[in-house]
Amino acid sequence: MTITPLMPVYPRCDVRPVRGENCHLIDEDGTRYLDFASGIAVNLLGHSHPGLIGAIQRQAETLMHVSNLYGSPQGERLARQLVDNTFADTVFFTNSGAEAVETAIKTARAYHQSGGDENRTELITFSNAFHGRTMATISASNQEKMHKGFQPLLPGFRYAEWNDLESAKALMGPNTAGFLVEPIQGEGGIRPASQEFLSGLRALADEHDLMLVMDEVQCGVARTGRLYAHELYGVTPDIMATAKGIGGGFPLGACLATEKAARGMTYGTHGSTYGGNPLAMAAGSAVMEAVANEEFLASVRDKGERLRSGLEQFIGNYPDLFESVRGAGLMLGLKMKVESRPFFVHLRDNHQLLTVAAGDNTLRLLPPLVLDDAEIEEFFAKLSAGADDYVIPDAA
Ligand code: PLP
Repeated sequence: MTITPLMPVYPRCDVRPVRGENCHLIDEDGTRYLDFASGIAVNLLGHSHPGLIGAIQRQAETLMHVSNLYGSPQGERLARQLVDNTFADTVFFTNSGAEAVETAIKTARAYHQSGGDENRTELITFSNAFHGRTMATISASNQEKMHKGFQPLLPGFRYAEWNDLESAKALMGPNTAGFLVEPIQGEGGIRPASQEFLSGLRALADEHDLMLVMDEVQCGVARTGRLYAHELYGVTPDIMATAKGIGGGFPLGACLATEKAARGMTYGTHGSTYGGNPLAMAAGSAVMEAVANEEFLASVRDKGERLRSGLEQFIGNYPDLFESVRGAGLMLGLKMKVESRPFFVHLRDNHQLLTVAAGDNTLRLLPPLVLDDAEIEEFFAKLSAGADDYVIPDAA
């Protein structure tokens, strides 16, 4: 037998973290890494945050799990925190981002079907989107590499061009239920929606009674310096998926919706055994308490600005390697002129700097939102050293 006990779907590298301290990860052999990946935009309070640990410990000692057949004071508390701080009137809790997007897709379809329109089942999605790895969420993405081997895809998704309102309009018809869009594409390479595009989708949705569904699984929960990235645009969704950062490292997601959008989500239409369990709710409430306030959000914007202006200066010194900096807050992308993956490996293996590779030859910088001045300095020291001794593979 050659297959490994862990199903070999990930090309895992040799970094084997066993401990975390704020923005650092410590490997089995004691090597310290500066973590600008945050478990892919998850550990927004860093590693080993006392408040988050305390909340999880207290809840674990009191009550870990009960079913959704009972009342949930813990769920009501977190739902109230989300409702009070967002556009939403109601929340369904999940365990992951893909499940949150699945719930959002069901909510959008149910909106039309509960209103008597059985035809409006299709969501228009956008090129290079990433919405997860379940059957519906891979079907929602035009990325063929995720489809390969898993045919048939689910029907009900049409792919328009990213940031191209005309291409979305051209796909609209009597079967259109709405749009599913990331305000800032993450996996696709930190590509922000243009103001015109996002406002245009909102206007089309309003005009045709369609659902504007946003996937804020990666860009949400204070990552951009706003609690949710759509606030940067002043454009509000009808339905939104959130996950990753909301549990601070504890598996948690949620689908948020307005009362109108959720009209089809009635008793018995949806469910989850674990979704909303007390332990996850305790983690989510601790995260919301820490981040959903102007002081914390302003600190993310400030650090984001410092990182961005430093990066803009830095890339000027390496015109052969880097093209531009993009993104918002602490969701930044370094667009490279050469293939980005080997540079990402070089930073990791030779300079102990963890980043995340993304589409469009972009390096994703997603540090914990609590990073401090010394860690920002350490980042620039590592990045400069990495750029200085980098040998572009083809030229080697
Ligand atoms: N949507 C977006 C925008 C994502 O970035 C991700 C994960 O990277 C997902 C959905 C899926 O989330 P999960 O991996 O928790 O299922």
